[in-house]
Parts: sequence; structure tokens; C-alpha cells
Amino acid sequence: MKRAEFPKCLIFFCLLLAGANNCALAADSLNPWLYFLLEEKQQTPQQIAALPPTAWQSAGAQVPNLDYSSGTLWLRLDIPADRNVEPWLLEIRWPFYDSVELFELDDNAVTGPLAVAGDHHTMSGRHFASRFPLFEMHGDGQPKTLLLRMRSGGLMLLPVFQWQINDYIREEQRAQIVLGLFYGTLLLIMLYNLGVWLLVRDHSHLFYAGYVFTVALYQALLHGVGFQYLWQDSPFLADKMLSISVGGTYMFGALFFSFFLGLKKRWPRLHRITLAISTVYLVGTLVALWLPEAAQVVQAQVMGVLVSMVALGVGIIEWRRGNLLARYFTIAWIFLLTGTCIYTAALADLVPYNRFTELVQSAGIAAEVVLLSLALGVRLNLERQAGRQAIEMSLHLAQQVNLANQETIHVQEQAKAQLEEKVQQRTAELANALTQLEQVNATLASLSVTDPLTGLKNRRYFGEQFAAEFQRALREQSPLSLLVLDLDHFKQVNDRYGHPAGDECLRQAAAVVMSQCRRPGDMAVRLGGEEMLLLLPGTDTDGARVIAETVRARIEALEIQQGRHLFGFTTSVGLATVMPTVGDTPEQLLALADTALYRAKGEGRNRVAVAGS
Ligand code: GH3
Ligand code: MG
Ligand code: MG
Repeated sequence: MKRAEFPKCLIFFCLLLAGANNCALAADSLNPWLYFLLEEKQQTPQQIAALPPTAWQSAGAQVPNLDYSSGTLWLRLDIPADRNVEPWLLEIRWPFYDSVELFELDDNAVTGPLAVAGDHHTMSGRHFASRFPLFEMHGDGQPKTLLLRMRSGGLMLLPVFQWQINDYIREEQRAQIVLGLFYGTLLLIMLYNLGVWLLVRDHSHLFYAGYVFTVALYQALLHGVGFQYLWQDSPFLADKMLSISVGGTYMFGALFFSFFLGLKKRWPRLHRITLAISTVYLVGTLVALWLPEAAQVVQAQVMGVLVSMVALGVGIIEWRRGNLLARYFTIAWIFLLTGTCIYTAALADLVPYNRFTELVQSAGIAAEVVLLSLALGVRLNLERQAGRQAIEMSLHLAQQVNLANQETIHVQEQAKAQLEEKVQQRTAELANALTQLEQVNATLASLSVTDPLTGLKNRRYFGEQFAAEFQRALREQSPLSLLVLDLDHFKQVNDRYGHPAGDECLRQAAAVVMSQCRRPGDMAVRLGGEEMLLLLPGTDTDGARVIAETVRARIEALEIQQGRHLFGFTTSVGLATVMPTVGDTPEQLLALADTALYRAKGEGRNRVAVAGS
């Protein structure tokens, strides 16, 4: 509680108490002329009238409180002449009398009953359809003695008043307006909470509506309007309404208290106890329907005090724990308790019974009901806020999840792209490596069949191909010519011009031989040293001879530059041509060509010798 709220509450209650002294009814209390006696023997009015004055007890200045009597209460009113001048009204301002019968006592002669009232008499049988028992007196200027026979199952109070008729009408009209406002407010609050309950299904609102309804019943009972308007023709309801309304109030109040403060979560054990108490009230109320009124009152009051104190204690503890709703609840509860305490004190004769004390409990209830309605509004708002926060939170989380998903997808895509790039890169590298490898392999392969100095095919390659060409010539029965070249006096060339010059000679001679490879099967080969071959498939001796001569002549024509020297060299050529037949071998052809070469050397070099000629 904020500190400023304590003084505010205190001021409010001081004002209430100050107002109490100015709230006397516009009626005169008849207590100074009132005597009463309680008897159990059901005596007749005549017997009572005959009793000695000592049998009667004076009421005194205050409203007598006769507690729960099951007997008959007799009242005697000795109205002096000056109080009986004009027509006036006698009111017994207490709603719990079952029956009130009016007799007139004149010189020990009893007449009556002149009129009846009380909730066991139907409205039609009564003199006035008033809230409380009311009788009209004519006011003939004479002293008058009245006898009243009264029965009640419940608490018997004696607020007995004398009204001037105009005062009564004025006060009653005002009272009816105030009560109308009071019940109208309660009704509205009840309907509103029922509506809210139907909409949001929060049981606090249902129990609160029930609470307001039963509180309204209880108040209607005390104010007499329940009897006046609701159960005027039902003595049973009139008798049982106290236990129904009070039992219902505590039952719904306890349920509301627990659900409203959220005890199920905060004080689970207390919540269960509260539910148990509510059940006890429900059962108690049902049982009370068969009990006499007095027992109901005792039961209701004992339980009520207990429950109220527990509720107040829990309210304060919850308030101090920071439960905002408990603040409203506790203040509302204090209003109700204060009103009820003052009212009860008035009933117990501790403070004067007047208009203030009569209505102070209603005022407390009104303040409580309005405050609790406010609190329920606050609660709805808090829940709405919590709901909105939850929605916002879930939206936020959903956004975060979405973002995380997008990020994951992004990362996955990035990784995929990177991976693809890497794969492409690696594939390209691999392809490159393969190409290089192929090139290297090709180079290796060509290297292995080619003579590095001259670029002619080497002996190994010739060895592989020569046999194949020989076979083809055999198959196709075509001529196969073979030229064998050996440079003349090459040793001397080397000796004279040096080895590099010799190499140059070899290269240029090879180029000449190569230039004669014109057909697909033609093959120029370096056999080793300065010996070369030219294989000419499909070429007969004459063709081959021309080629051999050309080669020889061109080599002879070559000029090699070595420093300042320009020199030439020659070659001898052996030529052999065969048309292979089955059983012939390539070696035979080579031998023939070799022999021819040998002959060419022998015949003076720089010439062509043809095998077999
Ligand atoms: P001929 O054949 O006319 O009887 O006389 P020749 O001097 O040519 O005799 P031979 O065939 O015996 O000599 C071959 C010479 O060729 C020996 C060597 O000095 C030379 N020779 C062999 N291979 C190479 C080579 O790759 N480069 C160079 N520069 N000379 C080579
Ligand atoms: Mg040689
Ligand atoms: Mg030679």
C-alpha cells in the first residue's frame, strides 16, 4: 500500500463515524414508553393484560436486543396523550418478525388483533404493504395503551418508532430511491460480470456475479425490500432467506477470493481449503433449509468471522508480496468489514441504532462491490496486457526462428556455392593435369619412337612397323622398296669440322630423306650413327631408284657452314625392292639393301646401287 493511502482511508472512516451522529431518523423512538416480556406458555392477550406491572421490563433508551428467542415477545406501549394528538404511524423497524399482532388495552379490556404484520402474513392481509411492520394510529388526544404480540425465529430487535405520516412518506421515498440506486448498481455489476464470464470464461467473474447476487439478497432481507417486493407471499423463503443469502455470500465470496487472487498457483493448499469451505457453505446452506432460523444465524456468523479474518490476512500478505489485485481486494474487504462491524455493534447495542448504523453495512458493501468491480477491470486489463505481451513475444520468437532459418539457408547456399566453385576449380585443375599428362605422355610416346637429333623415326619404331608393312605388301601383293643410306667418310667430317658440324650434317641429310616421305606409308628412319633408311611401300624399283637418286643428289648439293668454312658431303645408297611372297621375311629385304649399299661403297661411294642389278 502506498503510504498516502492509509491516511486517506482513515479520513474516510472518521467522516463516516462523524456522520453517524447526525443520522437520526425523522421518527421518534418510542423506547421510553416501551415495556416488553418474553413468555413460552402461549398466553392469551387477556392473560398478558392481567399480569402485574412487575412482569414487564422497561426497554430503556437504547434499542433492546433480545437475541434468538423462540418464544413469544409481548410489547406494551403506554402512549401519553400528548403523543397521540394527530394520526401517526407505529413502525417496528426490523425485518425478521414472523408475526406482529396489534391489540388495544382499555381498562384491562383487550380489543384486537386490530392489525397484523410480519413475514408470515401475506401482504394482502396486512394494513400496509411496507418494508417493516407498520400500523396506523388515529390520534384521538387520549393516552393509549397498545399491546403487541410478536413472534420471530431469529434475532429480535426492538427499534420501535413513532412517525408523523408526512415524515414517514418523505423518508421512505428517499430511502426507496437510495435503495433503488443501491440494488440497481448491484444488478448492473452482477449482469456485467455474468456477461464478462460468458465472453472470457474467467470463473472469477461468475463467482463475483454470484457473490453480488447473494449479497443483494442478504441486503434485500435486512432492508425489508426483499419481503416487500420478492417473497411477500412465501413465509418459507422469508424464514430461509438469511441462511440462503449469507451461506451463498460466503460460498461465492470464498470462491471469488481464491480465483481472483490466483491462489491456485500462489497458495495451492489455501486454494484447496477455500474450495472445501465453499463446499461446507453449500452443504450448510442446504442443511439450514431444514433448521430453525436461530441455528442458521449462529452457523453463519461463526463461519463468517473466521472466513473474513482469513481473507483479510491473505489479502494483506498478498498485497505486501506485490500482488496488485490484493491491494484492491484488501481495501474493499476493509470497507465491508468496517461497515459490518459498525452495523453489528449497533445491533448489539454498543453504538446507537440510527439511519447511519442501519445503512452503514450497505454502504460498506456498495464500496466493496464497486472497488472489486474496478479490480476485476484491472485484472482483465492485466490479462489482456499479458496476452498481448505473449503474442508479441511469440511473434518475436517466430521472427527470430525465421531469421535463423534464412541464415541457415544462406549459409547452406554459400557453402554449396563455395563447394561447387571448389569442385569446378579442382575439376579444371584435374582436367588441366590430365591434358598435361596426355601431352607429356604423347611427348614421351613420340620421344620413344623419334630420334632426338634428326627427328626421324628410330630403330625401335622401324622394327615394329617394318614387319607390318612387309605383311601388308604381302597381302596386297604390292612392291616394297627399301633405301639404306650411309654417309661417306663421315668419320673424317667429324674429325675435320668437329662433332657439332657432323650433327648439323646429319640433321640436314635427314631433312632431305624426310622430304621424300610423300605417301602415307613412307617412313624415314635413323638406324643409328650416320645410317638412315627410307621405306617406300607400293613403290617399285624404278620409282625407288628415282627417289634414291634424288636423295643422293640433294645431299651432295648440301652446303654446311662451319666458321669460315663451307663444306659438303655425300652419301651412298643401297636400294632393294621386293614383291613379297609367302615365306619371305623383312630381314631378307634389309639384307638385300645392305648388300647393295656395301656394293655402292665399294664402287666408289656417292652413288646408288640397286640390289639384283
Ligand atoms: P665410309 O662409311 O665412307 O666407309 O667411311 P666412314 O668414315 O663413314 O666410316 P664409318 O661408317 O666406319 O664411320 C662412321 C663415323 O660416323 C664414325 C663417327 O665418327 C661418325 N658418327 C657416327 N654417329 C655420329 C653422330 O651422331 N654424330 C657425328 N657428328 N658423327 C657420327
Ligand atoms: Mg657407317
Ligand atoms: Mg660412312
